[in-house]
Amino acid sequence: MLHDNSDTDYIAKATDKALSGGDASAWIIDNLQLGIIVMQPCSHGCKVELSNDFFNTTFNIKKEDIVGTPLSAIENLPISAIFLEKCALLNTTTDKITFEWENKFSPQGQTFMCNMIARKDKDGNIYQILGTIDDHTSEKRAEKNLLHNALHDGLTELPNRILFQEHVEDAINNINEGSDNHCAVMVMDVDRFKLINETLGHMAGDEFLIAFAARLKRAVDDKIILARLNSDEFAFLLTAVKNIDDAIAISDKIHQSLLDPFQLGKSEFYATVSIGIASTLSSLPYPEELARDADFAMHRAKQSGKSRSEVYQRASHEKARSQFLLEIELRKAVDNKQLLLYYQPILDLQTEKLVAFEALCRWNHPERGLVPPDEFIPIAEETEIIVDLGRWALDTACMQLKHWRDTIPGAENLGVTVNVSNAQFRKTNVADDTANSLKMSALPGSALRLELTETVIMENPVEAVGYLEEIKLLDVGLALDDFGTGYSSLGSLQNFPLDVIKIDRSFVTDIECNESNYKIVEIITQLSNTLGLVMVAEGIEKPEHVDVLKLLGCQLGQGYLLSRPLTADDAEVLIKKNLQAC
Ligand code: C2E
Ligand code: CA
Ligand code: CA
Repeated sequence: MLHDNSDTDYIAKATDKALSGGDASAWIIDNLQLGIIVMQPCSHGCKVELSNDFFNTTFNIKKEDIVGTPLSAIENLPISAIFLEKCALLNTTTDKITFEWENKFSPQGQTFMCNMIARKDKDGNIYQILGTIDDHTSEKRAEKNLLHNALHDGLTELPNRILFQEHVEDAINNINEGSDNHCAVMVMDVDRFKLINETLGHMAGDEFLIAFAARLKRAVDDKIILARLNSDEFAFLLTAVKNIDDAIAISDKIHQSLLDPFQLGKSEFYATVSIGIASTLSSLPYPEELARDADFAMHRAKQSGKSRSEVYQRASHEKARSQFLLEIELRKAVDNKQLLLYYQPILDLQTEKLVAFEALCRWNHPERGLVPPDEFIPIAEETEIIVDLGRWALDTACMQLKHWRDTIPGAENLGVTVNVSNAQFRKTNVADDTANSLKMSALPGSALRLELTETVIMENPVEAVGYLEEIKLLDVGLALDDFGTGYSSLGSLQNFPLDVIKIDRSFVTDIECNESNYKIVEIITQLSNTLGLVMVAEGIEKPEHVDVLKLLGCQLGQGYLLSRPLTADDAEVLIKKNLQAC
């Protein structure tokens, strides 16, 4: 291989010696694994002076048939045309031309890196042209393989997600302005694919995917691009779509093609797919937009009973789509540590002593900044995200409190409360999650209190008593949040192992002037005192609220007047200040 100018100088010197009868030089040149041809400019372009063995063998040509002959007159030398073309380009300014050349006449499809070097006399006239050809076939093949593997799925040999996105981009770019041609992306996911892997094993799963891909290809026109996006998710790219019915017709063909079972070893498997279709008729013309909209439509198809197609319609799906996007982002947020806890102080209203903090979740969104929980907790609750989020909140709050208790003298009795939503009780074992957090942080159960809402106990009172008792075994406190907004009476709460009642802030807002709210809080305070429950008033915003609540005998309070929710750092400052003051 030619590396630099010193290599070409060396070859030029060796060919000079060979041409002037140097046997040793001729031997060296003939044994190089590099094709060499030396030419002299002549009226016919250039005439060959020397060609080495590698060159002659490569083109299956005899030395005597080539040396002394003008390049243009040599028959069966496929490289001569390009050499002549490049020779003509060598002039006073260009001394060296490097190019890649593929020998299409060779059955193996060889690729060469070629150099044409002009040797000039002192007046700058070209007296000799040195050509070299270096066989790069195996490098080229390796490069092609690498590229192929990077853009194709190894199992089905179909284009992968990256290549598919490139095709989509090209298809979008090829849509001419004003034309009624559109393109559509059709994403499909095999229903119950996990079942094959779990019951028949991964080999059968692979076998199925290969057969499935082949069946999809057969079902449609072979010009339609099919890709495997991941696992059991495939996609078609449709171009020249005039009407969404064109795409629907193709999705119908796919459902049809799956009516016959797949034979997997001795088992038969009836596969169905959920298909989502998005097109530039309704979606924005960007590959990512089409992919996301088709994905969204596919999830809707799954939700509404599987084995069907759903078309993405911008107008009717806008709201659900943004929820869907938020859900994808939220899932990542939990993994990418974008969530954080703020801490709102809970004070003893009589002494103003800090008793505990309520941990309140925030999402530090890269573009939107701090997102309040009301915007993402409901989404987390609808999905499994709430389980991870809830565990994370418990872990973080316990670790933080343990840190404060250990590092701030006088903070040894400080507590923390964590919100646990109804969905968490349905989807995970809250007692187990709590026990884990306590163990990990080495915090005693008495330092932690969980806040739950009335729905938890009203939906299934018998079961609720069971899992609340389980939590109480950990010595963890239980608070009933937002009290007064639901339907439960204080009397009915007697059956549950509660420690604290948090009266909803809607009763506190105007307690100093709204008589009925004053009365409600008065009754609740009296009854909870009788039942041995501690009262916490939420939403204290004015000094008058504190005065009235103290008068009514409410022990603890929380609200913007006392402090807004704080970052962990600011909360630490407040702990120290409060300890000094009280
Ligand atoms: P919540 O449990 O009722 O929490 C109290 C909410 O009232 C907090 O809103 C707090 O910032 C706000 N607040 C406190 N003092 C005042 C005040 O004086 N005036 C007014 N207007 N508001 C006040 P935030 O932080 O937006 O939390 C909203 C809800 O999100 C919480 O209501 C809770 O149900 C839920 N949440 C927050 N963090 C978590 C969590 O980690 N897990 C679960 N499951 N839910 C959480
Ligand atoms: Ca709460
Ligand atoms: Ca509350």
